[in-house]
Amino acid sequence: MDDNLYQQAADLLGQNAKPGQIHLAATLLRRTQEADRCFLEDHKGRLEHAEGQVKDLRAALERIREVHRCVTHRKPRGEEVSTCAHCSEDSYPYYEVLWPCPTIAALNGPQEET
Ligand SMILES: [Zn+2]
Repeated sequence: MDDNLYQQAADLLGQNAKPGQIHLAATLLRRTQEADRCFLEDHKGRLEHAEGQVKDLRAALERIREVHRCVTHRKPRGEEVSTCAHCSEDSYPYYEVLWPCPTIAALNGPQEET
């Protein structure tokens, strides 16, 4: 066992500690350190997995927002209208989905009324 653990155990127990007590305390310190290391490694793995999932979800959201993008154009009477390029593309100019389309509104979440 690490001499440093014996020294730590001896320091904790004080001058009157017997060798058996120091050995026991050093063993407990070692087990505690091992348990802490396992705990941290386990949580590090979970954190890295979660970070990967967040990265994938952000990339998916970005791809959705690239497809459902805002396009502004002028109507024959001159007024500007903003529509979703994707949702309106098949039926323009007869049917337009105003911006934000239901997909983007769902991604944006509930909006507070002003
Ligand atoms: Zn859309």
